[in-house]
Amino acid sequence: MDTSPIIRKTAADLRVAPNFADYDGERRRFSWESVGRELAGQPGGTLNIAWQAVDRHATGALRDKTAFRFRARGRPPRDVGFGELARLSSRFANVLAGLGIARGERVFVLAGRIPELYVAMLGGLRHGAVVSPLFSAFGPEPIATRVNLGAGRVLVTTDVLYERKVAKWRDKMPTLEHVLLVAEDGGGSDIPGTLDLAALMAAAGDESAVAATGAEDMSLLHFTSGTTGTPKGAVHVHGAVATHWATGRYALDLHADDIYWCTADPGWVTGTSYGIIAPLLHGVTSLIDAEEFDAERWYGLLQDEGVTVWYTAPTAIRMLMKAGAEIPRKYRFPQLRFIASVGEPLNPEAVRWGKEVLGLPIHDNWWQTETGGIMIANTPAFDIKPGSMGRPLPGIDAAIMRRHEDGTVTPVEEAGVEGELALKRGWPSMFRAYLNNEERYRKCFAGPDNEWYLTGDLAQRDADGYYWFVGRADDVIKSAGHLIGPFEVESALMEHPAVAEAGVIGKPDPVVGEVVKAFVSLKQGFAASEALRLELLGHARKRLGAAVAPKEIAFLPSLPRTRSGKIMRRLLKARELGLPEGDTSTLESGS
Ligand code: ATP
Ligand code: MG
Repeated sequence: MDTSPIIRKTAADLRVAPNFADYDGERRRFSWESVGRELAGQPGGTLNIAWQAVDRHATGALRDKTAFRFRARGRPPRDVGFGELARLSSRFANVLAGLGIARGERVFVLAGRIPELYVAMLGGLRHGAVVSPLFSAFGPEPIATRVNLGAGRVLVTTDVLYERKVAKWRDKMPTLEHVLLVAEDGGGSDIPGTLDLAALMAAAGDESAVAATGAEDMSLLHFTSGTTGTPKGAVHVHGAVATHWATGRYALDLHADDIYWCTADPGWVTGTSYGIIAPLLHGVTSLIDAEEFDAERWYGLLQDEGVTVWYTAPTAIRMLMKAGAEIPRKYRFPQLRFIASVGEPLNPEAVRWGKEVLGLPIHDNWWQTETGGIMIANTPAFDIKPGSMGRPLPGIDAAIMRRHEDGTVTPVEEAGVEGELALKRGWPSMFRAYLNNEERYRKCFAGPDNEWYLTGDLAQRDADGYYWFVGRADDVIKSAGHLIGPFEVESALMEHPAVAEAGVIGKPDPVVGEVVKAFVSLKQGFAASEALRLELLGHARKRLGAAVAPKEIAFLPSLPRTRSGKIMRRLLKARELGLPEGDTSTLESGS
């Protein structure tokens, strides 16, 4: 556990009254039934994510309020209001109806962060189809694998992506009947074997009945990031919307007049749950930027769009840190009031960097594709212990599990003990299956009545109830009888001024089992040298002690990452040991 000083919060840190101010009281009072009452009012007593997110606001006071503000280089901003979003998504639902797509059938979407992607996803949900967003940088094979696994009947993509990635593989996707294309130049598209989406939308009506889905009907199919192996298809249901609503309120502290920016792509669960659904549920305006990461552009957007709540990822924060302190000095962020991060452990160094450079600490939170929404979080009203992921949100029961030899598990009551992080079933956005892999799904649950979901992450809880990430169960290093979490070692290395990012693995060793090896990339202005290597070894030893500090350090220009920005330790290890690299479908190109 990190021993960095606690970042204390006072009333002066809160520019608006926080939604979540009394930790124990709110958890005691909370019930999922009461969230259900907030979401009541849908015609026929049904539950549909798109109705909750869009239609609920589209005829009322928010009709003309901006739901999404789309930004793209070289184009004027485009604002789409709640009323317009309802009309467009209805049209798309009518397009699906016209193609004979039935409830429960699968619609895949492969596009950059363009308005049509958002309309297709919301329209697909409204129609009762199961929507699966794919990241637009995927190559042909990962696309085909996912469409086949999900039995995709419709694919919405752009003419350019289609020609580059889908056309040649089309006959390898036997379930795929309809391909709807957005012309990237804004005109029409007439590629044989495809349909022009703009023409279909123009011919469709503005009104459509919302599918009479219930809470247990399948809504979204999300693939995991593939950090530890082949990506899994996690099945989600419409009832998940209750978690999106509650976490938008408690974890992101959304208020009606926020300008909110989630930097994740909808191809990953964060970009859907929090890039689309949660802000819409709360009637909040979201900024959507079509461009890739660029430090100068990002600071510019935070400033010019007046972003108030920003949800991003450690990889982006590390890249901003790497770009140096000069750029942010040119910008001002007076509106920004809350920053949160998810996806990987957030090093204490990054939490503090936020305070120094942006004027606000970064609030780490934890969840997974499987959990569908944020489970453990740091939130505006509460003190931050840098390096901790925070505390379980209202409605979430978490535990640290001890596994016994006979395969059973029991929650560890004492603080400060390492074990597998588990969540008690009952939160509405829990995944309901791994597609075509029932066995693997079943193995995720244990305890009486299988009431605990085991996350595959190791963590510990301190005496104040804060959770600390140790590492993925697969990544933990066993050295001379010690269990070493890579996160702790990486965070210590990150404290050195030269280090931009660090990835740590266990390297088999005949004497101690495994030795700790670190790979680091350096910040601008620093060059790899033997002297720096020795300095880093010394720094780590001083910080961590000889038993935990790395024995070896290697420099890399950058670390291999998934396209969602996670360091792929399994690849560092495979490369180090000369082993096969395994599934690299989500590997960022060039890493
Ligand atoms: P795969 O399951 O295919 O290996 P993945 O686990 O990276 O990929 P995601 O569901 O996108 O796929 O990521 C969830 C995982 O990311 C968590 O289980 C955890 O290991 C890590 N993670 C997310 N947020 C945090 C956080 N705040 N601190 C530490 N780890 C985090
Ligand atoms: Mg995972």
